[in-house]
Amino acid sequence: MKKINIITLGCSKNIVDSERLAMQLQQGGYLLLHNSPQPARITIINTCGFINDAKEEAIDTILQCVQAKQRGEIEQLFVMGCLVQRYADALRKEIPEVDEYFGVNSFAAILQQLNAAQRDALHTQRLISTPQHYAYLKVAEGCNWHCGYCAIPLIRGKYVSTPLPDLLQEATSLAGQGVRELMLVAQDLTYYGLDLYHKRSIAPLVHSLSQIEGIEWLRLHYGYPTQFPRDLIDEMHDNPKVCKYLDIPFQHINDGVLQRMQRGHSQKDILNLIETLRRRCPDVALRTTLLVGYPNEDEAAFEELLRFVQDVRFERLGVFAYSEEDGTHAATHYADNVPAAEKQRRCDEVMRLQSRISAQLNEAKVGKTFRVIADRIEGKYTIARTQYDSPEVDGEVLIADTSLQAGAFYQVTITSANEFDLFGELRVEN
Ligand code: SF4
Repeated sequence: MKKINIITLGCSKNIVDSERLAMQLQQGGYLLLHNSPQPARITIINTCGFINDAKEEAIDTILQCVQAKQRGEIEQLFVMGCLVQRYADALRKEIPEVDEYFGVNSFAAILQQLNAAQRDALHTQRLISTPQHYAYLKVAEGCNWHCGYCAIPLIRGKYVSTPLPDLLQEATSLAGQGVRELMLVAQDLTYYGLDLYHKRSIAPLVHSLSQIEGIEWLRLHYGYPTQFPRDLIDEMHDNPKVCKYLDIPFQHINDGVLQRMQRGHSQKDILNLIETLRRRCPDVALRTTLLVGYPNEDEAAFEELLRFVQDVRFERLGVFAYSEEDGTHAATHYADNVPAAEKQRRCDEVMRLQSRISAQLNEAKVGKTFRVIADRIEGKYTIARTQYDSPEVDGEVLIADTSLQAGAFYQVTITSANEFDLFGELRVEN
């Protein structure tokens, strides 16, 4: 069997795309590898083109594979995804050693290139690349917002919800493969259904997914503040299978910056939403993403952002420096006038503040018992997570016991903590 190695860069939505393509290629008679360090005769790179750092990583990966091809380790090299969607012509000109470039949504062309038939009956099936007990479920493609700094609508197009029956079929198939935890992802999770069913339908979708046997945890990523569906908060409160966890990028809190970012909501809207979430679900873990150094972000606006971080005390927080992206509203309307060193200083200051908050929040968990899912064994520890920790991006729970089984749930009492992780001991098995 000919081997194909799919190298996936970027976000969880790209992971899902790669897994869907992998299933089709496997049915076409290929042996599939995901992100294998060993070069395979056929290599496909699924790229990200969101911001400069991601573009640089994609280019580096392509060039490394071109060198492996020149050494005779790779026969056919294909590049797909967001970077190609944005820069296909330049890539073809600059790196002609790649056999072919494919934009987003070009499965049919890739399968044809590899003489594999497209099997529509398999459109809800995936060859998962994550550990067997958790997987991402992409509920929609594209985005209808026009945030000033963001190139995604230019790359992925309009918002297209995946029909609910297809998502239930996909989730049932994943549960059949041993998946216990599903991370629901999209560019904007809370917009789900508005295009297809003319009403926000994320809460009914989550409720239906929770009925699938084997699915124990449902995790919500990429919420959007504007018109946040209240029934989703109720579903999170009422449904024991919905993790008390919400990833919702707020980006900023200063009204002037929010307006120039075209976010469509105000400081007051954000604070009201956080208050509502925490009143309805007191133990909800909020993960957010902030953007510093946006054009004309002055010291006063940045100080306001620091106070927001200090006051809200997010359980999880990431911060990015503004990166000017071709074709975006910000790039065509504002000068990128915050110096790079100042952007970095602001990122560092936010993370310094957040690490103190994280350490305090983690310390407060010592002595408490939590239900955890075991992920893997590492050295003398089992690495696990509570419902407040998403894989790959959040802290973990380290248990000094290697007899635990990946994908199983345990009760663990926290014995100590640092700013990132918790340490615990097994309480009872359930
Ligand atoms: S919601 Fe805004 S930041 Fe997110 S993908 Fe859409 S345009 Fe980009």
